[in-house]
Amino acid sequence: MLRLQGKNVLITGASSGIGQAIAIRFAKEGANVAINYRSGAQQAEETLELAKAARGGAEGKQFTIHADVADEAQVKEMFAKTLENFGSLDVLINNAGILKQSASHEVDIADFDRVLAVNLRGPFLCSREAIRHFLTRGGGAIVNNSSVHEIIPKPKYAGYSVSKGGMENLTRSLALEYADRGIRVNAVGPGAIETPMNKAWIDNPKARGEVESHIPMGRAGKSDEIAAVFAFLASDEASYITGQTLFACGGLTLFPEFRVDWSTGE
Ligand code: NAD
Repeated sequence: MLRLQGKNVLITGASSGIGQAIAIRFAKEGANVAINYRSGAQQAEETLELAKAARGGAEGKQFTIHADVADEAQVKEMFAKTLENFGSLDVLINNAGILKQSASHEVDIADFDRVLAVNLRGPFLCSREAIRHFLTRGGGAIVNNSSVHEIIPKPKYAGYSVSKGGMENLTRSLALEYADRGIRVNAVGPGAIETPMNKAWIDNPKARGEVESHIPMGRAGKSDEIAAVFAFLASDEASYITGQTLFACGGLTLFPEFRVDWSTGE
């Protein structure tokens, strides 16, 4: 299905994990993809080659573009270059994100600030630039990469939880503000997905078993399964959806503790 035929799409943090899968999936559906990366130029080039291959040789403009999404000047430059290359932009995917672990009473405030800067300030800066452009052309779509931790608290990851909780209202506030001007803003809330971010348990059978024991569907998700949700929300098939977070989490947001009947006292 070519639901994104001819759409020009900028994906942040697309050099690995879910962002890379989004670039490949979108290219497969006919989109031109701009692959943003901060570090890992080599991985970004690999993503570019995979995206080109996914288009099956079809003509298209695909390129890599460097920027730290937390840096205003770099974000502005990234948009200027992207628009120069594409001519116009249809979709922004705010995917870049980082995670830092620490007990909250021991947290290094520089780490806390950095998580907020990349995970929340970055999506806002990128959205602002995208919206400025969308307003000149009568619309566009933004899809944010949130998390189940948009609604589920995560001890020892206060910065991450706060950033994703904030992303819910970033999504909803921008959606409401621009709904009457053809701009849709939505989010995807992944559960535990096999990406480099989760390298601590992916290849460790014991740790992986522990993670998967908490997931109602009994398994971690794959980046492709998340990219598919992004493709839907970015496409015109989602033309009447705005301000929503669609959780793709194998049931993690369903209060899994209630799988067994412990609350009725029988
Ligand atoms: P990942 O580490 O493979 O990918 C993160 C990407 O963001 C990398 O390409 C990294 O280079 C990039 N990035 C980091 N800081 C950046 C910056 N300042 N500017 C530009 N790019 C930057 O991890 P992932 O799992 O693919 O994570 C992608 C998104 O998915 C994140 O927002 C994350 O919070 C979210 N998410 C992941 C999971 C999961 O289980 N993997 C679950 C829920 C949400």
